[in-house]
Amino acid sequence: MIKVEGLRKEYADLVAVNDISFEIKKGEIFSLLGPNGAGKTTILRIICGLLNPTAGQIKINGMDISTDLAKVKSLMSVVFDSDTVYEDLTAMENMSFAANLYNLPTREAKSRIKELLGLFNLVDQNKLVRNFSKGMKQRLGIARALLPNPQILILDEPTTGLDPQSTVLIRDLILDLKRQGTTVLLTSHNIAEVEKVVDTVAIIDHGELCAYDSYQNLHTQYSDSLKFEIESFALAELLKFVPAEVAVLQSQEENRGIFYVKQLQKFLYCLGDGMGNGLVITKIQQAQLSLEDIFIQLTGRELRD
Ligand code: ATP
Repeated sequence: MIKVEGLRKEYADLVAVNDISFEIKKGEIFSLLGPNGAGKTTILRIICGLLNPTAGQIKINGMDISTDLAKVKSLMSVVFDSDTVYEDLTAMENMSFAANLYNLPTREAKSRIKELLGLFNLVDQNKLVRNFSKGMKQRLGIARALLPNPQILILDEPTTGLDPQSTVLIRDLILDLKRQGTTVLLTSHNIAEVEKVVDTVAIIDHGELCAYDSYQNLHTQYSDSLKFEIESFALAELLKFVPAEVAVLQSQEENRGIFYVKQLQKFLYCLGDGMGNGLVITKIQQAQLSLEDIFIQLTGRELRD
């Protein structure tokens, strides 16, 4: 459905996106993940035709966006994190205004607005949008984007800064859209949230593609690596017994260390050696490898600021 090939974007001396290629299949939920400044929004803006790439090609349903932009635009709706809904209008007025811009016939617009406001829990909101919470504004922004029933929905950081109720609502909606065959492309720092919905992941760091695969494959690929939480007042001493090819300390908080373990048996021997030398371990616990752990292994960085 969306094919990105050799995409590059330079801003003066900065290479914001460096030779990135990926493909998004119809009806899948595809996520661009990466820390601040990785290049995610730049890629989205190019896909939406809001920004010209320095090099590369984007095809949507076989149409090149550089030559068929109008047709391509009619297939998709986009909601940027920075997008604003009109503050001096109510939710209903915002939706009616947008329905006019989309040229929806009056009757269709009325029922679609009713349906979408219901879906997003905004039906009884008669107050001006300026009095809405961030979550309500975000929900209204997405509801508005869904008015023309787009084949592709693009969401830039859809759940950043939202209350848990709005986050769950948006997550469920994304899954519903997938069931209806809509293709969803989203960016996020919030790996834990993305993990609950995503089919395919492209991990971007410093404008480069570090990993691109189905979520399932990424998990399988890295499932040999284990994550262990170790508690010991002698953590620094214990580390001397663990060579880097066996396990690495990923993070430490006081006497609690998180290790990525590459060779389990050897790791356990190393811990045994440490204990044999009088070091006390108060807790050993294996944890499941998350998408965030995979990201850290790939980039050495955490996703959040
Ligand atoms: P965030 O999660 O913070 O939105 P991002 O992954 O979306 O980050 P981009 O906004 O695409 O990243 O930015 C990628 C890089 O390009 C950053 O270093 C940013 O400072 C730079 N950049 C973005 N827009 C411009 C611009 N108009 N002019 C110059 N540099 C820019």
